[in-house]
This record gives sequence, C-alpha cells and structure tokens, in this order.
Amino acid sequence: MSSGIAYTKPSITELEVGYATDAARNGWGTQCYDYIHRFEMLFREHLGVRHAIATSSCTGALHMGLAALEVGPGDEVILADSNWIASAAPITYLGATPVFVDIDPVSWCMAPEAAEAAITEKTKAIIAVHLYGNLCDMDRLLAIGEKHGISVIEDAAEAIGSVYHGKRAGAIGRFGTFSFHGTKTLTTGEGGIFVTNDDALHEQVLTLSNHGRARSQTRQFWPDTVGFKYKMSNLQAAIGCGQMERIGELIARKRAIFAYYRERLAGLPGITLNPEPDGVEIGAWMPTVVFAPETGIRREHLQAAFAAADIDARVFFYPLSGLPMFSPRRDNRHAWEIPERAFNLPSYHDMCLADQNRVIAVLEGLLRV
Ligand SMILES: *Cc1c(COP(=O)(O)O)cnc(C)c1O
Repeated sequence: MSSGIAYTKPSITELEVGYATDAARNGWGTQCYDYIHRFEMLFREHLGVRHAIATSSCTGALHMGLAALEVGPGDEVILADSNWIASAAPITYLGATPVFVDIDPVSWCMAPEAAEAAITEKTKAIIAVHLYGNLCDMDRLLAIGEKHGISVIEDAAEAIGSVYHGKRAGAIGRFGTFSFHGTKTLTTGEGGIFVTNDDALHEQVLTLSNHGRARSQTRQFWPDTVGFKYKMSNLQAAIGCGQMERIGELIARKRAIFAYYRERLAGLPGITLNPEPDGVEIGAWMPTVVFAPETGIRREHLQAAFAAADIDARVFFYPLSGLPMFSPRRDNRHAWEIPERAFNLPSYHDMCLADQNRVIAVLEGLLRV
C-alpha cells in the first residue's frame, strides 16, 4: 500500500532552520527587527517595488491597504466571485460591501467587462486576485480603473513567481499583498506582506501598521490615529529570509511540477489546465484541471476517486456569493458552473515524478484513456 500524497507542504531546509535558530537565540533587544528588515528588503528586490511592509497575514495586509484607501461604510469593492474568503473579509471589516463579479472562463480570474459593468458611484476599489497563480488581465483592469478614477489593487497571495509582460504580479496595481501561509509557494508559517510603489500610501500603511504611530512623531507612546497590529515576528522573518534566498528554486519547482502535469494531461480530450498566454509566465502555485461538460466528470467523481487513491486533491473555490453571509449572484455563470467540474492537484515542491504519475493515473482512470 503506497502512502498518501499531500496537497501542499512547505520546502524547509537547514538554511531556514539555521536562521530561525539564530533568531531564537540572538534576535532580541536591539536586534529584534533585523530579520524583518532583511526579509522586506529581499522581497522588495525580488518584486522590483519601492516599499514592502511584512505582516502577520495577507488578510491583515489587505485590511490595512484598504483602510489606507479610506474604504468605509457605504463603499463597494469589486472582486471576482471565485475566490478564497480572505480576499473579501477585509472589505466587510471596514463596513464596505464586496461586489462579486463573474470570472473569465479561460483565466478563471475576474472578467474585466464584468468588473466595469459593476462600477457604481459607491465603488472605491477593484481587487484583482491572481487565482491559482493565473494572471488577471491587468492592462484592461488598469485602463478601467483609470477611466473611472478607481484604484486597482492586487491580491497576489497565489501568484509568487507569476510575471505579466515583464512585471511581477503584485507590483502592478496601486498596492499588492501576499500570503506566506504554509500552503503557499513561500512560507513563514503564517505571514504576509504589503507592497507598493506609492510613497504616500506606504507612509500611511506604515503608520496604520504601528498602531497609528507616525514615523515623524517624536513623542513616545503617542498614536495619531487608531491603527492595527498585524506585524510579522522576527522569528517568522528569519524563516522567510531563508525562503527568499531560495525563491528562484521554489518557483522553478512549482513550474516544473506544473509543466509535467501539462505535458501529460493537456493532450487528453476534455481536460484544460491553467492557461499561460503569450507574454505571461505563471508561478503555478496551484495546478488545476477543468473537465469539459461533455466528459460528464463532476466534482463528486473527482473527490471520490482521489480519496480512494489516498491523494489529497482539493475542490475549486465555491463562489463566494453563494456563502450564507452573502447574497447569491447566480448570474456569475462561470464562477458558479466551473467549480462543478474542476479540481486542484497536489503540487508541493518535493513531490516526485512517481507521485505525479499516481495523480495523473486517477484522472486517466476517470476519462478511461
Ligand atoms: C491564502 C490567500 C489569502 C489569505 O492569506 P492569509 O495569509 O492566510 O491571510 C488571501 N488571498 C488569497 C488569494 C489567498 O490565496
């Protein structure tokens, strides 16, 4: 009996262990921010952005970024219906309303025309989420944002390693956010980061992230506003520094795993994988298959087949508007229909070819090829 195959898990080496040990031994007192500052510097350099603020989560980074854009009660923020709740929750924390729009059936990311059609006088921002590492049509979204005077921001939590016409995902919009949760391409256990090229916005978020204390404030213990406490610890950042030194390798492994799935599966009738259109390179955080309707293969069949093979594959995100706390938007046709016949495949960095072949055999079995 072969053992189970995990869905995702981090790639941790002696490098990360060494830095974490050093942080636990020495990273206190005057050195308590050293790894945090180094991690922020490495991330800025990797992404090619001016500013980065490490946080305890992507959710927190989004919360602060939206707060800095003065999103508040009565405002609307547009995002795709196919998403993890973390992209929508911070909107509600601020008393604003998430407006869920349909996805493009090829990229599975927000359909630009749907985003534009949803704009009202209450719209404060558009959140472009690069689902599973696929890329949103940023040129069109930015043009829409500019036309209507609305900020386009990027939740790039799933898009480490994704590049859009020479620019890294997360570095394109008004600001970007990332997650370093243990399931993501790069991990610090839990963690996130806020990035921007906008000096004033950076200064605002820096103040918010420090319980409302501005850098320029000379009085001690003197907040100028009510802020937040979403900081990354030096211990987490130490692990992150190790991961950043290996970022090229971490991304290359994800891409290699995806490339092998694509090579073996893309030719099969009725199967589509993450697209990689011209001018775009995907970080391939989550290799995902979508079955054509005529195959008759549904989520339930996939769940049962993978469970029987002891493989931890996962369902495609349910439409957020269908959750009990929101109002159903069944007219978001693709966001409601595609998850019925789609599945995420295991893709952790250390996955071997034999395990990928087991995953592929399950899919082939369902298609009886
Ligand atoms: C994982 C994820 C998040 C949440 O990140 P946390 O660090 O857990 O807050 C947010 N957005 C997207 C798109 C994600 O995939």
